[in-house]
Amino acid sequence: MRIVLLGPPGAGKGTQAKVISDKLGVPAISTGDIFRANVSGQTELGLQVKTYLDAGNLVPDEITVAMVKDRLAQPDAETGFLLDGFPRSIPQAEQLRDSLADLGHKLDRVVELVVEEDELVRRLSGRRMIVDGKETQRDDDKPETVRHRLNVYREQTAPVAGFYEGEGLLSRIDAIGSVEEVTARAMNALGADDDGDAGQSAAV
Ligand code: AMP
Repeated sequence: MRIVLLGPPGAGKGTQAKVISDKLGVPAISTGDIFRANVSGQTELGLQVKTYLDAGNLVPDEITVAMVKDRLAQPDAETGFLLDGFPRSIPQAEQLRDSLADLGHKLDRVVELVVEEDELVRRLSGRRMIVDGKETQRDDDKPETVRHRLNVYREQTAPVAGFYEGEGLLSRIDAIGSVEEVTARAMNALGADDDGDAGQSAAV
């Protein structure tokens, strides 16, 4: 299955991407994770993108799209993938559609995690990660950057849901609830049972 998981920062995309991709047996591909790994590894790509990540701005399309194309060309993504954090703009969505078409593929479904904005601000400001055994906050989870990321989402990424709605691919699901509840809604939208077996047709 070829899937895109959409949703604002703080909606739980990363968590759901891991659980759902495990159930479906496809790789979860997170552009944010790939960028962060490159920033901490101080690679050339990391140095190129660090200022964008720190400011909560989108990395330019030519960098992001090239990186995703490379990743989708890896053998493990040949029969399916779950994209988390990409596409984040209409041009990215169009370029994804065109590069999949070149390979004779297309997306099967797009699942949007829906959470209202006040709840996102609460979640992001309280979000912590463990790095080297220490609790830490992502630089871009600082309150002033959180507001900016939500604006970027509203202006550049939210229209992507409309793009996929027009293509008949979009399922919107309520992303408030336990991880298990949200996963069950997503699996239902994907037309797979909770063990990952495809079966009944997708609920839209
Ligand atoms: P995320 O982990 O998905 O919240 O992404 C963290 C940051 O990585 C974003 O704020 C952007 O700076 C960058 N990023 C991730 N995915 C994309 C994308 N598809 N296009 C442009 N920038 C991205």
